[in-house]
Amino acid sequence: MKRILVVGAGFSGAVIARELADAGHTVLVIEASNHVAGHAYTERDERTGIMLHAHGPHIFNTDDEEIWNYVNGFASFRPFINRVKARNLRGIFSFPINLHTINQFFDKSFGPIGARRFIEGLCVSSPAEPRNFEEKALALVGEELYLWFLKGYTQKQWGRSAREIPASVLDRLPMRFDYNDNYYSVHTRASRSTVTPRWFKPS
Ligand SMILES: Cc1cc2nc3c(=O)[nH]c(=O)nc-3n(C[C@H](O)[C@H](O)[C@H](O)COP(=O)(O)OP(=O)(O)OC[C@H]3O[C@@H](n4cnc5c(N)ncnc54)[C@H](O)[C@@H]3O)c2cc1C
Repeated sequence: MKRILVVGAGFSGAVIARELADAGHTVLVIEASNHVAGHAYTERDERTGIMLHAHGPHIFNTDDEEIWNYVNGFASFRPFINRVKARNLRGIFSFPINLHTINQFFDKSFGPIGARRFIEGLCVSSPAEPRNFEEKALALVGEELYLWFLKGYTQKQWGRSAREIPASVLDRLPMRFDYNDNYYSVHTRASRSTVTPRWFKPS
């Protein structure tokens, strides 16, 4: 058995340390900040009792049974459907882009087939293999939806230009031609909000 140092107590470090310790190794975890959980850290507001996500809101979601069973060994989760609204200068819209978003944004009353045809008409032709997020988005949703819904949001999340972000990132944002407004496409084992792990006792 080995003595192992794990640097950082975010999800990655914590899971690795737990697994190594369970396998019989002696593990020391060091953490630069004064709490575990890294970017997923939450703390309860003393005045209101509300759980605050210190680095921005986090939702745990998975469609993997093994992962779901694993995390439930450490914490309890509340069911949660993430229904997101996007606000921009044109109004407040359902997000990710769905039939409601399209009809509201373009002031139309399309059904699924009409909306699909309409969006196809807006799409900008791009190389067969889009080289980055921007190229893929323009090819799939057209310029207007890209500029109003995807570009700023994605650049803010990633802290870089959409032209430097891989095209594959767009796969995480579904485009729907129905009224399903669940942010996540997968329903089973998905969209559960996190609560503080029971093994973490704030000092
Ligand atoms: C605003 C925001 C929203 C997000 N929303 C979601 C979401 O809804 N669902 C989701 O699944 N994911 C979400 N994520 C992503 C999620 O936060 C990360 O995937 C996850 O926290 C990464 O865990 P990690 O352990 O790899 O890194 P981190 O959480 O960054 O943890 C790394 C830890 O290592 C420590 N550390 C670093 N260097 C050192 C050092 N030299 N010495 C000691 N300690 C060190 C840090 O202090 C930190 O505690 C979101 C991220 C952000 C920023």
